[in-house]
Amino acid sequence: MTQAINSTQALYRCLPAMDSLLLIPQVIGFIDQQGKSWIKSLLTQMLDDARQQITNSQSLPNWCLDSANITTELASRISKAQRQSMTPVINLTGTILHTNLGRSQMCEAAIDAVTQVMRSPVPLEFDMGQGKRGHRDSAISALINELTGADSCCIVNNNAAAVLLMLAATSAGKEVIVSRGELVEIGGAFRIPDIMAQAGCKLVEVGCTNRTHLKDYAAAITENTAAIMKVHTSNYHISGFTKVTEEAELAALCKGKGIALISDLGSGALTDLSRFGLSKEPMPQQMLKDGVNLVSFSGDKLLGGPQAGLVVGDRELIAKLQAHPLKRALRCDKMTLAALEATLMQYRNPQTLDSQLPIFRKLSRPLVELEQLAQTLQQLADSVNGSLFDVTIQACQTQVGSGSQPDVLLDSVALCLAVNTNASKQKHSPSVLQLDKHFKAASMPIIGRITANQLWLDLRGADSDSQLIEVLTTSLLDFEQVPSQTPATSLEAVS
Ligand SMILES: *Cc1c(COP(=O)(O)O)cnc(C)c1O
Repeated sequence: MTQAINSTQALYRCLPAMDSLLLIPQVIGFIDQQGKSWIKSLLTQMLDDARQQITNSQSLPNWCLDSANITTELASRISKAQRQSMTPVINLTGTILHTNLGRSQMCEAAIDAVTQVMRSPVPLEFDMGQGKRGHRDSAISALINELTGADSCCIVNNNAAAVLLMLAATSAGKEVIVSRGELVEIGGAFRIPDIMAQAGCKLVEVGCTNRTHLKDYAAAITENTAAIMKVHTSNYHISGFTKVTEEAELAALCKGKGIALISDLGSGALTDLSRFGLSKEPMPQQMLKDGVNLVSFSGDKLLGGPQAGLVVGDRELIAKLQAHPLKRALRCDKMTLAALEATLMQYRNPQTLDSQLPIFRKLSRPLVELEQLAQTLQQLADSVNGSLFDVTIQACQTQVGSGSQPDVLLDSVALCLAVNTNASKQKHSPSVLQLDKHFKAASMPIIGRITANQLWLDLRGADSDSQLIEVLTTSLLDFEQVPSQTPATSLEAVS
């Protein structure tokens, strides 16, 4: 016992003092580049970790040996701390618009547009000789109006913000009528009754979960009613004995009573999606034709642009939204507006959407191409994975995601990795969980999905075949090099 304490104390005495660390020439070099306080805090952490190791296992970390080892350890901690958290991943989860993976990817035109406005001042709200200082949405409102047939538009941070602003600006302190079949919850904290309360509106529920008639709405209108709101049931589907009152019918009712008809479309789509094998998603342009006064939808769902919320509709109502104090809090920055404008420009020629916008490129990719890719990947994976895993090709189905088109599944192909039955008999056989973790820890992570002890890589999510081929091969090779005696700790080291 005393011996252990003595040796522990001896080890503590072997630790270099901070003052001596700060005198190592390479450390001084790091201080010149990175600043003293940060480097000192990394060294403090190294010493703390070393003390922890002495306490836990009566041993010194290798880096304590000499100044070359100290420098190497410090350099590795610097580079680890400088790694950015938001680096690209390959999304093979089977969900194309994955909210947790940032939803839609931008088209190249949007990427160029954003890069430009990041570098330079731009006339975001500046009079360039037309005699008025427009608001920041005016630059792209002509384009949005051209595409949707709207009078006017208002652009905010996301569709949740758009709904909040629509309600607050048109109906605060008043009643808003919603069907009981449309009291939607979107993932996270977006629930129609809560947003309604935040906007200062009184929710008036009408009808039943499965059926709401025009007469239900009509009977609920009072002198305090400001609006009827329709909410697209984007992430669920009610079927069977159902009745939904269409916008056109409601528009006539609202017009007669002098109240507004507003609609939260969720995803919205500016083009007919049936050619991508998707069902018809309600389009804002149709809603406006049907007489809806304000329509809101997301920028980063089926539109394929940046995170944003678009509200289109009547000029006087949009003017109220633009003038509301919440608009200032919810407005978009120049990068979002530039990306949105460049994305929307693609819609002038719907025929090229599937080659220009990543979302449509993925949704429309022919199955035979995915099958060919799967075969290439299977052969490579078989040749490099050292018989640790059985690699098979399986049919699967991709979902759009982000609450868009919950019923629609697109045929796809997955590469499936399962533990080889011979390998699984060995004492330290790898597991599919370890493989998944290893893929996620790579410099270019591949994100799949584990089902029934297999790692499924849905190939419809691939952006570049050649990149995927390279990344998968390297990742499998790396995995093979992990010594089989100590798979768990070695995997930690890899990550
Ligand atoms: C997705 C969705 C929202 C929220 O949109 P965000 O852009 O995620 O803020 C609101 N309402 C409906 C019906 C939706 O589908």
